[in-house]
Amino acid sequence: MTEELFATDSYLKTCDATVIKADERGVVLDRTVFYARSGGQPGDSGVLGGIKVVDTFKDRDSGDYVHVLAAGEALPAVGDTVTAEIDWERRHKHMRMHSCLHLLCAVVDGGVTGGSIGEAKSRLDFDLPDTSLDKEQITADLNRLIEENHPVDFSTITDDELAANPELVRTMSVKPPSGQGVVRIIDIAGVDLQPCGGTHVKSTGEIGRVRVGKIENKGKHNRRINIHLEE
Ligand SMILES: [Zn+2]
Repeated sequence: MTEELFATDSYLKTCDATVIKADERGVVLDRTVFYARSGGQPGDSGVLGGIKVVDTFKDRDSGDYVHVLAAGEALPAVGDTVTAEIDWERRHKHMRMHSCLHLLCAVVDGGVTGGSIGEAKSRLDFDLPDTSLDKEQITADLNRLIEENHPVDFSTITDDELAANPELVRTMSVKPPSGQGVVRIIDIAGVDLQPCGGTHVKSTGEIGRVRVGKIENKGKHNRRINIHLEE
């Protein structure tokens, strides 16, 4: 098992770790600051020692937490100690975008059917009937919540507590990370509260100004809202 250090501190950029597996998939460490792609958030890139990492994912079958190396990089040996360092500029944009999508959940009243996070553009899909969504209004509402600089806190609850409070779950297609006994709850006080395993900024002001891009019609009930960072 890999200790996921970002789960308790998403601002950690680097850690020392020991290689516990190295094979054709990549490198598994005993602990890491790299986020593995999930819930629409991309896996981190960065370096292990001098070795370039292009992606991180959790192997569904084995549960292994795999750092994918760039083509041509040589594998380290099991037992080696390496310094793991993420591409912080890229990750911080993901954190800003991800936190903004929580605000979008608060602004738009509808179940979330999907989503995706990127540095340049992120989106959420909402299960909404034929309603007209006002792009300028959503942009203004998001920027107001950002300017109000709400703290973003997290806590953990048990799987059983989550099962007893299904209204906490906003995403209809993406199940929150559970099955490990505890689930992380992200709390933007008075704004949004939901289980989420991703990485977030510590207060909404850090997101910076955003704007709503295209609002796409993706089927009878599906409205896709695209978000861009302005700075
Ligand atoms: Zn989140």
